[in-house]
Amino acid sequence: MSGGGDEGKQHGKRTLAIHAGVDHTKGNRPSAPDIVMSSTFVVDEQVSFSANNLDDDTPWMYTRWGNPTTNELEAKLAALESAEAGIAFASGMAATTALLFHVLGQGDHIVISNTNYPGTAEFARDTLSRYGVEATAVNTTNLDNVRAAMRPETKLIWLETPSNPLLQIADIAGASAIAKEYGALLAVDSTFATPVATRPIELGADFVVHSLTKFLGGHGDAMGGSVCGSAEHLAGLRSEGLSHLGGVISPFNAWLIIRGLATLDLRMRAHEENALALAKFLEAHPRVERVIYPGLESHPQHALAAKQMDNFSGMLSFRVADSDALAERMMKKLSVIHYAVSLGHHRSLVYLMKSEDLAHTSYALEGDELKAYLDTAGDGLFRLSAGIENTADLIDDLDQVL
Ligand code: PLP
Repeated sequence: MSGGGDEGKQHGKRTLAIHAGVDHTKGNRPSAPDIVMSSTFVVDEQVSFSANNLDDDTPWMYTRWGNPTTNELEAKLAALESAEAGIAFASGMAATTALLFHVLGQGDHIVISNTNYPGTAEFARDTLSRYGVEATAVNTTNLDNVRAAMRPETKLIWLETPSNPLLQIADIAGASAIAKEYGALLAVDSTFATPVATRPIELGADFVVHSLTKFLGGHGDAMGGSVCGSAEHLAGLRSEGLSHLGGVISPFNAWLIIRGLATLDLRMRAHEENALALAKFLEAHPRVERVIYPGLESHPQHALAAKQMDNFSGMLSFRVADSDALAERMMKKLSVIHYAVSLGHHRSLVYLMKSEDLAHTSYALEGDELKAYLDTAGDGLFRLSAGIENTADLIDDLDQVL
């Protein structure tokens, strides 16, 4: 943000969510963001055709390399994450895979949480191994496990906090200290937290990754992903991970997500308020065996969550004895909450995350780790993404299916 007589002033995050990435020095311009739906740009100078020669001064030339609407979104994301730079991608998985392919190469090693978002877990185990990258999956709630897994060739530590769907919290500052000690980098998937709750770069992470499809877009209508970090790291990621791998976001989706970001802070308060109310309702319900929400004192890492999160976010998980029967009833009877995957939308969503899928297939847990997962999750956890509807309507809807 520049111009308008406020040069040098530090703006708050709510202001930045609306104004960052907009050139305030231009006079006669639209007040609302433009959508530039053009794949190519008329140039008045010869521009290199190689993405390797891209720099901050390269004019817009082709949307896979850069686009005004997408660049505005990227500036807003960087401002919210206290990062030097940001890159938007077509989806969270496009962001994740681009970063992993960019940072890691043959002979490298990655230490990764053993209960990541399934797409990330499966990519690390099944795909990276084909490119000569070894992954060690550990329970990252205990940093001793991370330290024990570090090797001279470890290039990256990957955390997801809170994690999907166990809502485990990993200590970002502690993991950053380990990464620095071993000369490795730290990436954090902060999709469940959002920058309203946690800003991993401020805690020492090198990269923060988001599925923008979730809370940041916030309305369930646009897919997107992002990576924020230092300008130096992101320059290489833009040419290799974005331009060459090609997972570029549509400017229309970037525009929708810009619109979502303007209300992120307000929405996160409503998500948190509803999630806490639902978590307390479920915890008191006789049919519910277990509720996991970082904002509850019963959460095993409530103290770390309170330290690392300014908002406990809108995600909770719960378990009942006969989960298949409840899932069936939810599909037929829920009237406000949608029985659907995804999360972070204005609309509440619930879905049964079955342990036979996650623990065995996606995470491939064994031994004590498998036992610990099943002790917590049983046959499966209902992952509930609390929306921003009236709290009483959500409680009534859950009550009538339970
Ligand atoms: N990371 C987390 C924590 C997620 O929950 C998801 C999707 O559910 C992703 C990454 C992938 O994002 P996308 O679906 O936008 O590719």
